[in-house]
Amino acid sequence: MLTSQEQLRYSRQIMLKHIGEDGQLKLRNASVLIVGMGGLGNPVSMCLTAAGVGKIIITDGDTVDITNLQRQVLFSEQDIKQNKADCAAEKLIQNNADINIEVVDEMLDEELGQFYIPQVDVVIDCSDNIATRYLVNKICIEHKKPFVVGAATGFDGQQLVIDPRKDDSACYQCLFPTSEKAPENNCQTVGILGPVLAIIAGMQALQTIKLLTGIKVKDNQLNIYDGLHNQWQQFNISRQESCPICNKI
Ligand SMILES: [Zn+2]
Repeated sequence: MLTSQEQLRYSRQIMLKHIGEDGQLKLRNASVLIVGMGGLGNPVSMCLTAAGVGKIIITDGDTVDITNLQRQVLFSEQDIKQNKADCAAEKLIQNNADINIEVVDEMLDEELGQFYIPQVDVVIDCSDNIATRYLVNKICIEHKKPFVVGAATGFDGQQLVIDPRKDDSACYQCLFPTSEKAPENNCQTVGILGPVLAIIAGMQALQTIKLLTGIKVKDNQLNIYDGLHNQWQQFNISRQESCPICNKI
């Protein structure tokens, strides 16, 4: 049962027929792992903390730099040189003290991934590099954990949900095989606008809330956002027979 305080606090989402008290309880009992506390991880963690997701594990081994402040909206000038996951947790708990926020002040590697991913209901990839995304993909496929991918550079972003609980689910590596040269573009080389990250992060948080509350989520679909021309495009993706990750399972 929700407390009367929780009923009040979350009343605007409880009144949605797709959420209701039942959905709010599911959120309270849920746990997620957010990989990366940068431009995507900041707004994703803010949305999920505010929405009442019971346990949020955040990982990042990086420190706040002055060049982050233009888009990483949780951080302030006094946070420079501090660990991003530590700083983020301090700010998030101010918003909602009921949430259990666990900080991992290191970059996710195989060992950490194998430890934390099996513990959570949904993994949200907010990392800024393809090597981490491949790692998260591999471990999520292995443990059949749904995960929500987001990425953005310049005015452009992409978002997709991989749900390995479904038999026909494609994986990130089906879409971007390692044999192809991994894109070198990142925020440091091509730049990024904060609101583009907020849009993609908002999509990631929305998809996560849907996954956690049992609302149908379209998987095997790559969503591409073009912020310069205000356009979304959807592409269906399919499981690749040649994929070394999903065909090993
Ligand atoms: Zn695959």
